[in-house]
Amino acid sequence: MTARGRLAIGRSAHFSEFESKERSARRAVAAYLEGMTGSKTAKARKAGVLTAGLGPASEAAYWAAVTTRDGRFDGTFYYSVATTGVYCRPSCAARRANRENVAFHATAADAEAAGFRACKRCKPDQVSLGAQHANTVADACRFIEAAETPPSLHDLAQRAGFSPFHFHRIFKAATGVTPKAYAAAHRRKRVRDTLSQSRTVTEAIHDAGFNSSGRFYADSAAALGMTASDFRAGGAATDMRFAVGECSLGAILVAASAKGITAILLGDDAEALVHDLEDRFPNATLIGGDRAFEDVMAKVVGLVDAPRSGFDLPLDLRGTAFQHRVWEALRAIPAGTTVTYSEIAERIGMPKAVRAVASACAANKIAIAIPCHRVVRNDGSLSGYRWGVERKRTLIAREAEGTR
Ligand SMILES: [Zn+2]
Repeated sequence: MTARGRLAIGRSAHFSEFESKERSARRAVAAYLEGMTGSKTAKARKAGVLTAGLGPASEAAYWAAVTTRDGRFDGTFYYSVATTGVYCRPSCAARRANRENVAFHATAADAEAAGFRACKRCKPDQVSLGAQHANTVADACRFIEAAETPPSLHDLAQRAGFSPFHFHRIFKAATGVTPKAYAAAHRRKRVRDTLSQSRTVTEAIHDAGFNSSGRFYADSAAALGMTASDFRAGGAATDMRFAVGECSLGAILVAASAKGITAILLGDDAEALVHDLEDRFPNATLIGGDRAFEDVMAKVVGLVDAPRSGFDLPLDLRGTAFQHRVWEALRAIPAGTTVTYSEIAERIGMPKAVRAVASACAANKIAIAIPCHRVVRNDGSLSGYRWGVERKRTLIAREAEGTR
């Protein structure tokens, strides 16, 4: 119950509470819809949900609603007619009044306080079907907002006691959008809210109820109008910037600390790459890429497409001393050539450590820049590749082509 409802007394107590609830629900819906763009906002405006509250600018719209008996405005405002002393809902079928005799009121109680009595035809002092629906819809909105994952239309309808079809219709009539679009709008709002509170972007992804960070990134650009890290302020020394994108080998994730590149991950799915990054750097504060980071991303994508062009970005290698030795040996392998695990083991002075060399190659977090794809089995066949043997084959072929 709102403060306004609590203060209401006597006969109108329930009524005032209801009206207040209904209007605050409409305002809440309107606020969410403001986060949405394009035709949906236009539609919502058309439905009148954005015009709650009386202002001079609204009066023309209200008068237009009265002249067209637009039921979508029922509950949004009331109008009184000075010559009859009666007030009505916008949809009232009563004979149309002259504009100069008409005044608008935010609530029925306001109209009564101004000395008008309720019209017997449209019964503006009673809860209309539209208002009941608004209450149902407001309740559904709160339910959607509280849900961890967007509830299905079926669940929402069942909860409200309507058929899915009917529920969908009244929801859309009241809000101007479908329940699904409303849930999406709310989620975008939550992204904005959680990003400013959460320690990391990945945390925000989960806080906002996204199972999939791929969806999160798709939605957050629209929600923020900027990248996630632009939005977040400040950052600790262990911050790691990252970005996901597409390259000729599929999805790519690039991460970097202040010292240099910490990860280049390849895959089919950007979301999986973000999870992989989280697993590999559980203590880092991961920050979605910013504009400056796009240059880094562009350089890495360039390296994927032309591996022989060289890679001048600093690397921030994180691993054991043994892994460092293996990775440095990998970096010394010229593009267009391959070596075996045994050869690497020999080069680092540990010829028997072939299996450990293979493990260190598998633990490589920086694809391509640390060219573990240039390592093959002793018989020359392709062994597994952390990022898929097909990618390894493509990379080796691409580099061999470049040497011709
Ligand atoms: Zn009336």
